Amino acid sequence: MQKSEERSIFVAMIGFDLHKTKRHFTEELCKGFTPREAEQLMRILLEDLFGIDQKRQLMEPELRIDELQHAQLEEAVKRLLEGVPVQYVTGKAWFDGLLFQVDESVLIPRPETEDLVQKTASMLPLDRPMRIWDVGTGSGCIAIALAKRFPQAEVTAFDVSEKALETARRNAINNKVKVEFICDDVLRPQSLAWHQPVDLVISNPPYVCEREKVGMERNVLDYEPHTALFVPDDDPLLFYRQILNLAMPQLTPRGAVWFEINEAMGEEMSQLCKEKGLAVEILDDLYDKPRFCKAMLNS
Ligand code: GLN
Repeated sequence: MQKSEERSIFVAMIGFDLHKTKRHFTEELCKGFTPREAEQLMRILLEDLFGIDQKRQLMEPELRIDELQHAQLEEAVKRLLEGVPVQYVTGKAWFDGLLFQVDESVLIPRPETEDLVQKTASMLPLDRPMRIWDVGTGSGCIAIALAKRFPQAEVTAFDVSEKALETARRNAINNKVKVEFICDDVLRPQSLAWHQPVDLVISNPPYVCEREKVGMERNVLDYEPHTALFVPDDDPLLFYRQILNLAMPQLTPRGAVWFEINEAMGEEMSQLCKEKGLAVEILDDLYDKPRFCKAMLNS
């Protein structure tokens, strides 16, 4: 028997000690991250790649991983050190208590957007059937979280990217909810779905101005889809204006439009809604930044 064969049989039998492996890769990660971040990243890798949760990581000292898993960790750590966001490395992100598959065709769900879903959901009646649009759905996180919370709702999710919709469809199946996904460009709408009555319109459209790129993290800029992020400096409310134009004629009398917005645009958003004759409220996020906009027909 060849030496390398002997070694691989040996490793296959007993694998790698999890704790030593964890220590080794945490040290590796410290080349690009603070020790705290490195530990957090290691915990996420073991949880999301192998399903070994934090409790087991701590309580089961005899745990071992096999050679394949070791190689997977090595590759994951390399990609993290290159700057790839951890959710793209594991292909997983949590949102509103649900697990989503993510890839570079969709934005990684943000805590602010989770807050948007929670705020919106707290205003919705639990017992009434309603129609919901999620405009620019990406991974599908908003649409799917709402469909899960309100099983009686009819949820339609739009996106311009067919690749994003593939991911979103998979996420709806994995989370066992029914959402209608439609590929359409909100700026050049073709779908007949825009002509149906709607009770809730919700959207986290692109809202970062091109000029704001300078202050952004490299891992966002280098890996996340720019079509989901950026708007031209000279027309930052482009998507909001268009969504309101489409939504207003279809909105039921007590219906509402909820947006996530750029923290620098609270005043302008409020102005835009008022110009359109809507009643508007701007709400703060977890960091006390103006982040959400709720608009209703003035009756
Ligand atoms: N909040 C996101 C960011 O800071 C932007 C999301 C968006 O443009 N809709 O990267």
